[in-house]
Amino acid sequence: MSTDLARPDLAGAQADYDALVAQGMKLDLTRGKPSAAQLDLSSAILGLPGERYKADDGTDTRNYQGLQGLKELREIFAPSLQVPVDQLIAFGNSSLELMHDTLVHALLSPLPGAERRWVDEERVVFLAPTPGYDRHFAVCDRLGIELLAVPMTPDGPDMDVVERLVAEDPSIKGIWCVPKYANPDGVVYSDETTRRLAAMPTAAPDFRIMWDNAYAVHHLTEDAIEVADVLALADAAGNADRPFVFGSTSKITLAGAGVAFLGASPANVKWWLALTGKRTIGPDKVNHLRHALFFGDAAGVAAHMARHRELIAPKFAVLEKILTENFADTPGVSWSSPKGGYFVTLTVPEGTATEIVRLAREAGIALTPAGATHPGGEDPQDAIIRLAPTFPPLEEVEKAMTGVAVCVKLALAQQA
Ligand code: PLP
Repeated sequence: MSTDLARPDLAGAQADYDALVAQGMKLDLTRGKPSAAQLDLSSAILGLPGERYKADDGTDTRNYQGLQGLKELREIFAPSLQVPVDQLIAFGNSSLELMHDTLVHALLSPLPGAERRWVDEERVVFLAPTPGYDRHFAVCDRLGIELLAVPMTPDGPDMDVVERLVAEDPSIKGIWCVPKYANPDGVVYSDETTRRLAAMPTAAPDFRIMWDNAYAVHHLTEDAIEVADVLALADAAGNADRPFVFGSTSKITLAGAGVAFLGASPANVKWWLALTGKRTIGPDKVNHLRHALFFGDAAGVAAHMARHRELIAPKFAVLEKILTENFADTPGVSWSSPKGGYFVTLTVPEGTATEIVRLAREAGIALTPAGATHPGGEDPQDAIIRLAPTFPPLEEVEKAMTGVAVCVKLALAQQA
């Protein structure tokens, strides 16, 4: 396979591709999941809490109640999520579930500061910084919330566009934000972006920021990047109720059996707990205790994340190496080099992403469908491909990515 030519001729690219198909690969770069080796880092959690069931404050974790979640676990995660302990809720195993429920609650019961329930509005619109996370978009699709794409910049959403839209249209009720190591482009919001989001005037009195800090501690380098404190900035700007902060241990401990968190203003927390108290008597506090004992403190979380980094940073490095070797000088091909998180965004010349994903599929390499990063699954440029290297073993990431490079070259040669 030739890897030295930035833009091979069609015959050469086709021959490389045919050789790739002949290998009969079965590889997958679609899944933003921890690998089995990463899950093994948390094996000890399966043996916890052992015989112990009492929390530090004497709570019997086996029993009902404690809707806000175990305090000792909230204390451990409050600093990384930048939420005061009393304003932090520890809940079930999925932050996506908390986001979904928050929007359902807002549809059915007026939010603090709202004039009416969102179901009683003519339209409810959310801004979707794009490319973004498809499951955010799916929640809105499911609930009848319209999505309006806004462009991303290297500092976060294009704030000139966001400020203009929210100032003039009261049906815009919210914005999705993944402030750190965003899914899929790895962008980290600048302090100025966060400040403007927290302070901007909005036509809707009940505008909300869905601050999904899913990758708060998921650094790929020694540089533990911090974003600005959105709750504090919103409070200082007189918009204390604007942000809902989310996070979870899905990619820290066990993706299917972790703990999710929600943080917000005291008024939002009270609203959320009152409504959620109608659907459950309390979360799984045994799992909270298990997590608190496993970590001990916030430093325990950081030490644990360093072990994740050792396992996954080499996979990102291999992607970077193969992309650089093959496309450093190719016009129209660029990629993100994230300092954390779970994804790399590959940008290819307009109109080629779907074809590249198809070629890869025919060669046995599964890629996330082109368009998945856009509202409605439609990328008008057909230029963005999301790569997820964490789940397969390192050798498979290397093989799959080498194959993807062959597919990109064939698609470019076909287009030339
Ligand atoms: N938010 C983002 C940005 C994600 O990328 C993911 C998973 O990939 C989630 C939320 C899902 O989180 P959870 O497992 O807590 O539901």
